[in-house]
Amino acid sequence: MTSQTNDFPLFDTHCHADFEAFEQGFTPDQSIDGYLNEAKQAQVEKLLIPSIGQSNWKKLGNIAQSHPNVYYALGFHPYFLEQADEVQFEELRQLLASKTRQCVAIGECGLDFFVDVEREKQERFFIQQMELAKAFELPLIIHERKSYNRLIELIKRHKFTFGGVIHGFSGSEQQALVWIKLGFYIGVGGTITYPRAQKTRTTIAKLPLEYLVIETDAPDMPIHGNQGKRNHSKYLTKILNELVLIRKETKQSVVTQIWHNSHRAFGICE
Ligand SMILES: [Zn+2]
Repeated sequence: MTSQTNDFPLFDTHCHADFEAFEQGFTPDQSIDGYLNEAKQAQVEKLLIPSIGQSNWKKLGNIAQSHPNVYYALGFHPYFLEQADEVQFEELRQLLASKTRQCVAIGECGLDFFVDVEREKQERFFIQQMELAKAFELPLIIHERKSYNRLIELIKRHKFTFGGVIHGFSGSEQQALVWIKLGFYIGVGGTITYPRAQKTRTTIAKLPLEYLVIETDAPDMPIHGNQGKRNHSKYLTKILNELVLIRKETKQSVVTQIWHNSHRAFGICE
């Protein structure tokens, strides 16, 4: 029996439910259905799947077409730029020009100065995606790793005002407030389930609730206790519970507010 306080919908604002890894053990057309059913049983009613590059743009469009509760973003992930070239921007532009209501952002894009991908190419691709987002009036899903200063500099220089989400945030309170001021929401992920992540937990506890969304980043970023295992959207409830523990508000207010935020961040109707 589900208690009443558990009867609320959740929105996983960042998961890679389409990754091949999930298809092991499922037949190809059952895989995503099986995944979404498991998520739904854990109250995850809506999901957003960001793309990593041209390789999964069409796949995400197809998944969304048969699943009205799945939203997606199109873009180039900084990890996977090796296979990316400028010509693909034309295809991206065409897909955006004919997009449905479920394509709600550009991403996952950004800068990762930890991985071994040419910095110049990362910046070039990020700037072009920001310009596309402006043209189509879409928010960005931003991947940031050791690149906070440069991202802020580029966003300001290019006067980007459509906001978005900072995925898997683990920065300082001051950084979060700068993002919020620029129109971004803070993506709270599995990091807060780790007792050793005290700095991030303290920061998230202090930020305005109106700018928080939650995400699993499945199949990556397993929550505490599941290290080494494949992550899944069904664990979003664990992230929510941890968020409620570190916040002052009641569980009901947290749940209601982040549900609103998740829709507002991407201009989705509730
Ligand atoms: Zn991701």
